[in-house]
Amino acid sequence: MRMNDVPETRTVWQNPVEVIRALKPEHPVMVFAPSVLEGIARTYLQGFPGMVTYAVKANPDESLIRALVGAGIKGFDVASPFEIDLIGRLAPGAARHYHNPIRSQAEIAHAVRAGVTAWSVDCHSELQKLFDAVPPEGCEISARFKLPVLGAAYDFGSKFGASPEVTAELLKAAAERGYTPSLTFHPGTQCTDPAAWETYIRIAGEICDAAGVRAQRLNVGGGFPSHRVIGIEPDRQAIFALIAEVTAQVFGENAPELVCEPGRGLCADAFALITRVRGLRPDGSVFLNDGTYGGLSELPLIGNIDRIQVFTPEGAPRRGDPHGHVIFGPTCDSVDRLPGEVALPDDIADGDFVVFHSAGAYSSATNTRFNGFGQMSQLTVKELE
Ligand SMILES: *Cc1c(COP(=O)(O)O)cnc(C)c1O
Repeated sequence: MRMNDVPETRTVWQNPVEVIRALKPEHPVMVFAPSVLEGIARTYLQGFPGMVTYAVKANPDESLIRALVGAGIKGFDVASPFEIDLIGRLAPGAARHYHNPIRSQAEIAHAVRAGVTAWSVDCHSELQKLFDAVPPEGCEISARFKLPVLGAAYDFGSKFGASPEVTAELLKAAAERGYTPSLTFHPGTQCTDPAAWETYIRIAGEICDAAGVRAQRLNVGGGFPSHRVIGIEPDRQAIFALIAEVTAQVFGENAPELVCEPGRGLCADAFALITRVRGLRPDGSVFLNDGTYGGLSELPLIGNIDRIQVFTPEGAPRRGDPHGHVIFGPTCDSVDRLPGEVALPDDIADGDFVVFHSAGAYSSATNTRFNGFGQMSQLTVKELE
């Protein structure tokens, strides 16, 4: 990540306020707290009733991936040759689940050469491509299914996934050809209601019955929530408990091994995004140095992050009464605006800093340089508050 707007005078800062006070950064700064990440990773590793993998697309930052490996994460969901090689380099020996169900022949060949042995698929033509190019020994094919959205903030799962009927055919065909047959789904992103997983697991049971195949593994996807909104803390334990309970109920003795592949749920809460006010209009609208073409690109899709703090350039918190403000990003495109209005202290001033918490997912990864903005850097902090 670019480091050209902040001097690298130190490697680790205390918190976002210290960064603001010392550097008064003119461009957006993502701050990463490895200790927070390690705590979250531990919660998953200890609480999830199966294997925990990380979906690299949410944030492929190398320091983040190294910290996950250090915390004990042993598998990754990868979607492209770039991600396959990235994990091959940063986490040699870790499992790579190539769970992008559509791949070109060149991409398949790349993955085979790289040693990938776990794939997902959601239609017969793509399954045939795997049959033609991937030897079955020691190789897992997971059939991916989808249901109408339940409980997700945004239907990130709808692009991929077969109907339960087709999924049963895919599972059976993979088993007959000698591949390890498994199932996978993605319930949609930022699922705060554990019920999102329940229906999927029940249908997974029906798919196995229809196919007459015991699935070796059931990958319950990502979709685990982060702490984006005040008062709605992710209840990870409730989700883990429900997944374990429903799996036991549905499959009994024949239960498949469980795998999860959170992106957001692992990374988001370990980062905060420091932005700066570039200008204020008399009508109260606020122009930041970052917006929907930068680190806040997801907000129009899944709603505002409301864990926001405003600081003066000296690092003092603004304590004025909160009022709704329209927030615009820096570019000259009118879609560069956060949805609706955002509550900000009424004493917010030009040059202030606005910190968005829980900003680590789908932010630095999708940041663009549109209109000459988006010069984002990243710093390491001990803590986020
Ligand atoms: C994006 C993605 C994930 C991660 O989703 P989150 O909602 O960030 O947890 C997991 N699995 C697959 C296949 C994905 O495409």
